[in-house]
Amino acid sequence: MSAEASLRPAPWVTRDSQFFWDAARREELVAQACGSCGALRTPPRPMCPHCNSLERREQVLSGRGTVHTWVMPRYPVIPGVAEGTIVAVIELDEGVRMVSAICDIDYDDITRDMPVEVFFEPTEGDFKIPLFRPAA
Ligand SMILES: [Zn+2]
Repeated sequence: MSAEASLRPAPWVTRDSQFFWDAARREELVAQACGSCGALRTPPRPMCPHCNSLERREQVLSGRGTVHTWVMPRYPVIPGVAEGTIVAVIELDEGVRMVSAICDIDYDDITRDMPVEVFFEPTEGDFKIPLFRPAA
């Protein structure tokens, strides 16, 4: 996304996702971890899908992973998201997947399992959103 483009809309913050957006503002990528069995889960949700525990904690992630799959949505246009944005499923090094966007690369140059790293971009409402780019 170019510097001239408008900011992305503010995220929709819920009780379950508040910790994620607070961490993103500090430029940390985090995931919810089960407080009982330790399984990581993204996106955040109230109950562990493995052991049904309601206990949870926050785990800081490396911010590194690989491209699992990707697409360039054409329609409908998403307000505040530049045309040509590449949406991707990132397989994080910790073993969970996250939907985000890949930047700083042409669509045709992306390959499956390509290493990527997180960076953060400001949004409306003084939030930051985690996005990915080819690993340095
Ligand atoms: Zn669990």
